[in-house]
Amino acid sequence: MKILFATSEIAPWVKTGGLGDVAGALPVALRAAGHDVRVLVPAYPPLLQAFPDAPEIARPHWLGGLLPTPGLREAMSADGLPLLLLDYPPYFARLGNPYLGPEGRDWLDNHQRFGLLSRVAAWIGAEASTLAWQPDVIHCHDWQTGLAPAYLNYLPGRRAKSLFTVHNLAFQGLFDHASLFELGLPDTAWGMHGVEYFGYLSFLKAGLQHADAITTVSPSYASEIQTDAEGMGMAGLLRHRSEQLTGILNGIDTALWNPATDPHLVKTYTARHLEGKAANKAALQSQFGLEQRTDLPLLAVVSRLTEQKGLDLLLDVAPQILKLPAQLVVLGSGGHELEHGWTALARKHRSRCAVSIGFDEAQAHRIEAGADIFLMPSRFEPCGLNQMYSLRYGTPPVVRATGGLADTVIDAADRKNGNGFVFGPATAAALLQAVQRAIATWRDPILWRRLQKHGMARDSSWEGAARQYAALYASL
Ligand code: ADP
Repeated sequence: MKILFATSEIAPWVKTGGLGDVAGALPVALRAAGHDVRVLVPAYPPLLQAFPDAPEIARPHWLGGLLPTPGLREAMSADGLPLLLLDYPPYFARLGNPYLGPEGRDWLDNHQRFGLLSRVAAWIGAEASTLAWQPDVIHCHDWQTGLAPAYLNYLPGRRAKSLFTVHNLAFQGLFDHASLFELGLPDTAWGMHGVEYFGYLSFLKAGLQHADAITTVSPSYASEIQTDAEGMGMAGLLRHRSEQLTGILNGIDTALWNPATDPHLVKTYTARHLEGKAANKAALQSQFGLEQRTDLPLLAVVSRLTEQKGLDLLLDVAPQILKLPAQLVVLGSGGHELEHGWTALARKHRSRCAVSIGFDEAQAHRIEAGADIFLMPSRFEPCGLNQMYSLRYGTPPVVRATGGLADTVIDAADRKNGNGFVFGPATAAALLQAVQRAIATWRDPILWRRLQKHGMARDSSWEGAARQYAALYASL
């Protein structure tokens, strides 16, 4: 099958979270299974630098509204993945985060930037396309490409089918009514059965409403988002479309995240020979200026610092956790308040707690390897990747029972299969209790090694997910 991925980020070039990882790895797994997958992504500076000679193969024009005429450049990744770079420098030649300006606020023209991305995805899937390659399915990801299924719906003639994947329902892409005209959508699209959402144009709703099929990134999240409590205002629509909605658990890039070969580690290790993990712990402690102690458990977080991730709950009980005693390393960036709170905590407890504000891929690998216990107390978590990395690195995670965390982590109470620690209520007290339980188990080397082995044996590769996506494409 011929599949076009339309995405606003793709690892390793441009990534702010799990979406980037998925867009980088799932197409490669689908290609390995014999499908012709290509990826449409904006030509941000890192992509233009990586592929300076990418030739222009088309100039989609007459896109409607006030949409400009961009270029489409063709490139090939080292993995053999064909990329279609959407080149329009006034929109995409901006450094840093793809969504936010230097002050940390959304770019004011995000509706035009991602409207253009959506519109060009639809152009490639419709009759007007001048490309020789014609996709059977356009696979859209999150609000940034949510308008593509809507455009396909309103375009005349033969069209590709569309699949819309929700990586996070919290980001909805809401813009004012005037955007409808700017983006060249018909007036008839304005309404409950179109792209309108309580007086706004919602890119997310457009995708949910018009896609031929919808997926989200774990079976539990697929059920949760159909409830009023967790549906972020979309539960009614999702229930209405429940026949077309499925949950497919993400995989991880098992070549990139492999403790046996990871070039970022001071010492590699395997489930059979876990000794190397100790050297990574010592290196992490030294790098972060923590006391060199093998007798203290080292707990870690790698995350966006947001309330979604429950890092305010963790901050509340962190002083108590440090007193248990334990050490804590946090790598993350996000809201100013949480960044400030965490930095202040680290300043107060220098030998026990270290916080690094920023986004650092190599550091994330070293933390997964060097920590004893990983913490992910998310309030909601569509899938989550870090708990899967930590399972694979022999660093049992403590997670809240939600979304993809519930689908990947099995509590240690299950002696035969347990690979981590799961708690229920989104409260600091429940989190603290789970951390205490994890530390008590860590102090028992036999129990701990069993837990590590269960986690490291888990198959988190993309093959299973790729098979499910391929079946879904075929059904469309
Ligand atoms: P989300 O997409 O909601 O942020 P996921 O767990 O699905 O959460 O994916 C997060 C991805 O981003 C993982 O690959 C994780 O390692 C990475 N990541 C998050 N924060 C950082 C950071 N500060 N430094 C390096 N990598 C990070």
